[in-house]
Amino acid sequence: MAGLTEDDRELFEDEQEERFGKLAAEIKPWDQLRDQLKSDMKRMKKQLPLLKLNQYFILINFANLRLKGESRIEASKNIAKAWHDGEGNWFARRVRDLARYYQTFEHLPAEQRGGMRMNRSWLHREEVKDAALEYLNNLPTGKVTPCIFCRHINGTLFPTLGIKPKNPVSLRTARRWLIKLGWSYSLVKKGVYMDGHERSDVVRYRQDKFLPAMLEFERCMTKYVWDMDKQELEQIAPDLREGERELIPLFHDESSFHHNDFEKSLWLVVNNYQQPLRKKGRGRLIHVSEFINPETGRLVYLDGNGKIVKEARKIIYPGANGDPWWDTDQLLKQMETAIEVFELQFPGKQALFVFDNSSAHGCLRPDALKAWEMNKSDGGKQRHQHDTIIPTSNPDKSKRGLHQSMTMANGQPKGLKSVLTERGFDVGKLRAKCKPVCPIESEQCCMARLLDQQDDFKNQVSMLETFITERGHKIIFLPKFHCELNPIEMYWGWAKYRYREEDKPKFEDAKGAAVKWLDACPLLTIRRFINRSFRFMSAYRKGLTGKAAEWAVRKQKQHRAVSQRVMMDIETILN
Ligand SMILES: [Zn+2]
Repeated sequence: MAGLTEDDRELFEDEQEERFGKLAAEIKPWDQLRDQLKSDMKRMKKQLPLLKLNQYFILINFANLRLKGESRIEASKNIAKAWHDGEGNWFARRVRDLARYYQTFEHLPAEQRGGMRMNRSWLHREEVKDAALEYLNNLPTGKVTPCIFCRHINGTLFPTLGIKPKNPVSLRTARRWLIKLGWSYSLVKKGVYMDGHERSDVVRYRQDKFLPAMLEFERCMTKYVWDMDKQELEQIAPDLREGERELIPLFHDESSFHHNDFEKSLWLVVNNYQQPLRKKGRGRLIHVSEFINPETGRLVYLDGNGKIVKEARKIIYPGANGDPWWDTDQLLKQMETAIEVFELQFPGKQALFVFDNSSAHGCLRPDALKAWEMNKSDGGKQRHQHDTIIPTSNPDKSKRGLHQSMTMANGQPKGLKSVLTERGFDVGKLRAKCKPVCPIESEQCCMARLLDQQDDFKNQVSMLETFITERGHKIIFLPKFHCELNPIEMYWGWAKYRYREEDKPKFEDAKGAAVKWLDACPLLTIRRFINRSFRFMSAYRKGLTGKAAEWAVRKQKQHRAVSQRVMMDIETILN
């Protein structure tokens, strides 16, 4: 990658994001955008300043060239040639920025200074914003659409607030408001709605826990920052304090390759009567569990000649007549190898394992404390649970810090009543468990709920976390629904795109192709994927969300953090 021009790099990143990222699904095709541009320009021709008119012309030209089959780069260069002889590359990049901006926001960028005096948007009024947010937050997940929102604004929200606008809010304005309010159109992935991205509990975890922790971790990491003069990634040493070890982030994820994976769209010969032959179904599975890091790319132990001696990657072939399905036990076994490989490759350094927030990763040990699985009385049919220490927050001070066995002297498991009584609770009048569910407001409605609220039951550490911290390394969980914060997603995309293009008649061929492309991703590319995720973190720290964050990250491709300059651009868009 080192010898490539900036255009090549941009092309490469676009290929990644447009094929695998969310953008492909969100953005209108250029034929629709062109019609929109033409009608906008016609409508506003009389009142547009020359600059805006030029921008419309450029965008319509750009759309035409793209529809003719030219790439973004080609189209922008051709426009630059026609408009500005001599300043070619600089202007071409401006054209691409403008096109990207319009694709995302469907309007021209706001003027920096002076320019048109626009009426301020209704959304600037606090009561409008609050009412809109309240309405949107109360819609069931997946039900928010610009259309529903638009109807609500004109039909309910404005009349309720006594607002009588000259013109009703258009569908496009409603769409823009949605973006400003933090909604973004997203794909359904792994069976969950990605809309959860801005759910309040998820945001709280992201902003209050994950981002501050990562910032502190980042200080102890080697960074690879784009050097404009040298045109390469420059290594910047960590800022370590007394007794600190250098941290190396290892991003984990699992992914499956299907034997018969094909592109969603295919190149077909026009007027060919034959349908392309496709195998039935997607075929057998290749399941990969892997870690990537900025130092060696994949987690591997290399000998003096750079040859791989040992690696952490685990590939299985699950399904009928194949390997058993992937589970927590297999992950823990892989972790043993991963830590061994890490310590061989990076002696004296500390690993920061970054996992996604799936339930499998939060799996508790088999004898974990679970109040809801306990009976009221001792013995009988209930699971054995491990002993515990009565927490320092226990209401009865005399019991704090005491060891509590969860098993009776006769070897039978203790019930709810004994465990709570031993902690000094008076459970005489309390029922064992509410049926069918506990009332929301009370926390002391039943024994199970009461015990479940105690700190030793509430704050249990997952097996994965215990395994890693006991070995002197660190672990952090990504916020839910935030796949853009896991750079390994880009790595999967890189390998899968190439895997799909290959002919794989037999399953053995598929196995070979998957490994070949998983191994082929260059270290520099992996570093750029990792930097991209750090840019998203930087954008979220600055309070950006959804589309605005995405835009900032794209604008600052070569950097690791989102700069003040881009923040200012964004503020002019959003305000
Ligand atoms: Zn209850």
